[in-house]
Amino acid sequence: MWLSKLGEIPLTFHRDLPDDADIKTVTVKQEPTGKWYAILGVETPDGPPEKPENPERCVGIDVGILKYAHDTDGTAVESIDLSDERERLERAQRDLSRKEDGSANWEKQRRVVAERHAELKNKRRDFLHKLSNYYAREYDFVSVEDLDAKGLVELPGNSRNRAGAAWGTFLRMLEYKCEREGTHFVAVNPRGTTKECASCGVSTEKPLWVREHSCPACGFKADRDANAAWNILSRGVKKRLGAGRSEETPVEAALPVDTSVSAKRVVETGSLTLKREPSGER
Ligand SMILES: [Zn+2]
Repeated sequence: MWLSKLGEIPLTFHRDLPDDADIKTVTVKQEPTGKWYAILGVETPDGPPEKPENPERCVGIDVGILKYAHDTDGTAVESIDLSDERERLERAQRDLSRKEDGSANWEKQRRVVAERHAELKNKRRDFLHKLSNYYAREYDFVSVEDLDAKGLVELPGNSRNRAGAAWGTFLRMLEYKCEREGTHFVAVNPRGTTKECASCGVSTEKPLWVREHSCPACGFKADRDANAAWNILSRGVKKRLGAGRSEETPVEAALPVDTSVSAKRVVETGSLTLKREPSGER
């Protein structure tokens, strides 16, 4: 970069510039850490390019409670372990409660509590940023459940609030990152995605501890979360097709899956019918 009065300055790019980007503004700023950053404001001709919808790059994500996320490609993402951070925070809060209200020591400890809070929050945000980046970059079409207020009610108070907050943050991050990457994002109705059979559509009661989906109607067997992820993907595809997308050629969504599920689906745009062809264990 060349700046008047300073001359040439070497830059390290954190992200690649699109070839057709027009640099409109440059802001130079110093962070509290002492590092200098140049923030480039760029304009591209038509905004982010729309990715072609490759059926192999469509994904449904089940934001679970025990695992963090399970998708239709068989990727299961464990939630991050925040127990150390949580313990440190609780310890700091206990210490604060022992200080005399409003004293200098209390004020000092109050700041420690604030720092512990920030640590926890940053670690969780960092995890959610990475996860949402992964989906927005790897896929052309992402379908995810909308926040399930009803499902969250089944959890005990504290973890309900935490799960709800993390879920909401994840959805927001995923949506804006998808927009940035030109990836189609759909949030679908979360009701019954776990109970419904991804193969035949029949709903069966399934308490939280039942980890396997085994359909009494058609015999289709799959991991509980994988089955839910398949339902989320097909709801997303339906929703998107229903949104009045003009399309002459049928979109085929016959997706390769992990070993535990092998439901295969063909979606035809014309009739919006969903053909379910389970070839899983029976
Ligand atoms: Zn079934």
